Amino acid sequence: MKHTPQFVRQIILTAVAVLAVALPGNAQTKPITDLQPTVILISLDAFRYDYLAKYPSPNLNYLARTGVRARWLIPSFPTKTFPNHYTIATGLYPAHHGIVENEFYDPQFDAVFNLHKREEVEKGRWWLGEPIWVTAEKQNQRTAALFFPGTEAEIAGRRPSYWKVYDDKLSNDDRIDTILQWLDLPQGQRPTLLTAYFSEADDVGHHFGPDSKQTRQAVFELDQAIGRLIDGLRSRQILAQVNLIIVSDHGMATSDPKNMILLDQMFDTSLAERIFWTPEIVSIFPRPGYEQQIYSSLRQHLPPQARVFRKSELPERFHYRDSARIAPLLVLPDEGWALMNREGLIAVNQSESGPSKGRHGYDNKLRSMRATFIGHGQAFKSHTVVAPFSNIQIYNIMARILGLKAAPNDGDSTAARQVLKRSKQREKP
Ligand code: AMP
Ligand code: ZN
Ligand code: ZN
Repeated sequence: MKHTPQFVRQIILTAVAVLAVALPGNAQTKPITDLQPTVILISLDAFRYDYLAKYPSPNLNYLARTGVRARWLIPSFPTKTFPNHYTIATGLYPAHHGIVENEFYDPQFDAVFNLHKREEVEKGRWWLGEPIWVTAEKQNQRTAALFFPGTEAEIAGRRPSYWKVYDDKLSNDDRIDTILQWLDLPQGQRPTLLTAYFSEADDVGHHFGPDSKQTRQAVFELDQAIGRLIDGLRSRQILAQVNLIIVSDHGMATSDPKNMILLDQMFDTSLAERIFWTPEIVSIFPRPGYEQQIYSSLRQHLPPQARVFRKSELPERFHYRDSARIAPLLVLPDEGWALMNREGLIAVNQSESGPSKGRHGYDNKLRSMRATFIGHGQAFKSHTVVAPFSNIQIYNIMARILGLKAAPNDGDSTAARQVLKRSKQREKP
């Protein structure tokens, strides 16, 4: 059968129209022609540095290949979620920004912070230093957060212009579409810094382990979300312009349920005022006058797979001393090992999921704790792989892209010079 040119044209137009509607986040998108330097900071919790090569992830690999990627990103100690996210946001080590663990005690407030205690997470007094969204808001830029630890609190009197209460049920598609809708706002209302957060690689990594087929699938699903974002940016004709930063907070170690140390049998827990139990770090606040006794008992009874440290004895490279929120005594196990008390062990044995097959929180030098950094967009070098750098450097990278005067922080300009294109304008002090 022979078709007229008009018929063929009609078919093509119809196909294009159908495709335009079917493409995610693409309905009636208009090109954005007046974009200011913009950063989208995307955190993929526990996305270990090797997942990019290990698991199918075409969209992330496209960004990593055409943009700039660090061989790995060095997380800060402790390799937990809240401390590292807030380090990424502030350029400060956890001891300096105050979020020293996911759960910790402040002697001055005589209160406990916990990532699951909503009323505490939203209180500004915990969050020290200056996160990048506060730096931007202070300098008259708009910011928007689709979750990122710290964005739900008023810090130094500021919040992101647009933010939402953390909701782990919000679908990935809805998260991406919200980011795109914020970009569709008219200039003046449109944010120049946007954050997004995805927890799948962490959730599934804990449950099934980093080498499981479920983690492979989680990576693929995260990659689909990134694909939706790429499509949305492309349809707005700003994919090459927007500066995408894709990071993770830490990696994930395989943990064998057999590798467990029952710690409360090794010292008299009644000599402690409070103890924060996590499998990877146990923080002990001794009763006045009992520090030495607890310390000696642990020195005597701990197996070779765990060590007790006085705060002052922790390795310098942890930068984990200068805060009253850090406990006087800490017990740290080897990679993959878990510290427990009897209560915790019973709870784990009774839980449906059983013991975790993946863990993080260990020494930030471990290969398994290495995190991910990808930069893509106008300010970033292209087709470049750079040496590993610490996550304290990301704040300065973002400040430089956005043309902001950075607040004092623990980073310097070395990573920014590695990953960003030279720009005469940006190089000015
Ligand atoms: P971790 O215990 O270090 O593995 O912490 C990871 C958990 O942090 C994830 O399961 C997330 O659900 C949770 N999380 C991440 N961001 C937030 C937030 N803004 N508020 C409360 N929980 C969060
Ligand atoms: Zn995490
Ligand atoms: Zn986790």
